[in-house]
Amino acid sequence: MNDKIVTRFAPSPTGYMHIGNLRTALYAFLIAKHADGTFILRIEDTDRERLVEGATDVIIKTLEMTGLSYDEGPDVGGDHGPYIQSERRPIYKKYAELLVERGAAYYCFCSKERLEQLHEEDSNGGYDRHCRDLTPEEIQKNLAAGLPYVIRQRMPLEGSTSYVDSVFGEISIDNAELQDQILLKADGYPTYNFAHIVDDYLMGVTHVVRGSEYLPSTPKYALLYDAFGWERPTYVHLPLLMGKNEDGSVSKLSKRHGAVSFQDLVLDGYLPEAIVNYIALLGWCLKDSEAEFFTLDELKSVFTIDGINKSPSVFDFDKLLWFNGEYIRKMPFEDFKKSVSPFIKTALPENINKDLMLSLAAGRLNKLSQIDDMISFFLHLPAYETDLFLNKKNKVTLENAPVILKAARPILESLDDWSNDTLYSALLPLAESLGVKSGAVMWCLRIAVSGLSVTPGGATEIMAVIGKNETLSRLDTAISKF
Ligand code: GLU
Repeated sequence: MNDKIVTRFAPSPTGYMHIGNLRTALYAFLIAKHADGTFILRIEDTDRERLVEGATDVIIKTLEMTGLSYDEGPDVGGDHGPYIQSERRPIYKKYAELLVERGAAYYCFCSKERLEQLHEEDSNGGYDRHCRDLTPEEIQKNLAAGLPYVIRQRMPLEGSTSYVDSVFGEISIDNAELQDQILLKADGYPTYNFAHIVDDYLMGVTHVVRGSEYLPSTPKYALLYDAFGWERPTYVHLPLLMGKNEDGSVSKLSKRHGAVSFQDLVLDGYLPEAIVNYIALLGWCLKDSEAEFFTLDELKSVFTIDGINKSPSVFDFDKLLWFNGEYIRKMPFEDFKKSVSPFIKTALPENINKDLMLSLAAGRLNKLSQIDDMISFFLHLPAYETDLFLNKKNKVTLENAPVILKAARPILESLDDWSNDTLYSALLPLAESLGVKSGAVMWCLRIAVSGLSVTPGGATEIMAVIGKNETLSRLDTAISKF
């Protein structure tokens, strides 16, 4: 084996990218990139009944959006192609036959009906190894007669098989428990169980990184490596991903826990960078550190296999939301504008200060899809009652509120420059002349121009967003309520 680390992401094209799969891609990418190694994308589409149109594009697009660029893959090529399993069919047949020659696999001519019958009699029993000991003559006769066949792995019947996983340690299984699994199907396509072994070997994969659901079947795969005489790869199985149920318990992360595909999260207004950062932490942490924020480049330099944890990790939507908000706030404004624009469904009035409005909103948003709700008060004054003006801290009462509003109106009306700074300095002296706190003035004006007690931005910023005419009109509405 060469010294260079080679990993691969080998998704089946299902049409969406589950967060668990994206985490596998990320970890495989990081393990390779940490060591300046090679990261390969391979599409595992041998289950022809489950093909979904456009599914490969979803995978490619997701990896592009998340920055998980691969050195070899279907669209970028490489020395080990093709990278789509359905295009590698002849390769698998050759290797399956090689195993038959070596006695590690055998032809099975059992009909579908016979197998169904077996399953009916005992649904857990599996294949009864009916064809395991056919004579060479019987096999030749069946092949010559053109009988459909599959090729099965000949499992040892005694002893046990073990391997060492880098995360979970030694995994051992009694060989008696191993089924003579199908390697090559009657349609000539390999099963996943076989195809990925051949491909990982031919593509020079040194580290197999995937979900822990493959832990128990990996002894079977290790036996295939042994039968070929190939060195086994390093196995890195990742902890289960769980979701929180309403009753507080946890179970395998699935749709009922919320959006669990990358696309759905993006549609819901999560940023790819935030998603990547958050899922990096689902099963990994930086040793002796509390650090949680990592760019992809930082992850490349600090990510190591010994930071991967074997206990299940819980996908916490609240935490992701918080993360996302932090990312929104760290984003350069121009990038934020570009990202949030598609989420704004309401038409914006021409004279609104859009940039200021969006920069105020950016301070409060946790996901981009909250933008319409967040900005709606800029566009339409919500209905409110005069009680909203009451404020103990600033000593605002139903008596002094209208006085403040009425006194502010002519000042505002006289202003030509409608910037936040001008508005602020023009209104500040009002507090002193009325003998109230400046907080009282700003509070009353903010309620009047927003109709809300909590807003992104203060009174003068909101005024600067909505413009002079709208400000005066909202002020009149407020005054008329008393
Ligand atoms: N195609 C398999 C899956 O999507 C890949 C498992 C592996 O990485 O070996 O689960």
